[in-house]
Amino acid sequence: MIKTPCPICNEQMRDHDEKEIEKCLWEFVRESKNPVVYASRKKTICPICEKEMLDHNTSETRQCVKQFVDDVKNLELEKED
Ligand SMILES: [Zn+2]
Ligand SMILES: [Zn+2]
Repeated sequence: MIKTPCPICNEQMRDHDEKEIEKCLWEFVRESKNPVVYASRKKTICPICEKEMLDHNTSETRQCVKQFVDDVKNLELEKED
């Protein structure tokens, strides 16, 4: 389950519409893969383990991003019921 607000826009993931989810999700994925580039602009807090993305090693990043993508997909499924 996602407990934290969106790491990109700071709104609750549940308050996103489909377009916003897609935008934030892919921005998060992109930033996570280049944490050094994006860290100079702002801190990104991992929505899964709540550490800074910069404090992740490569395999942690991969795991957290995958988990976040899965959780967001589950959120969308729940909404449709
Ligand atoms: Zn967002
Ligand atoms: Zn994490």
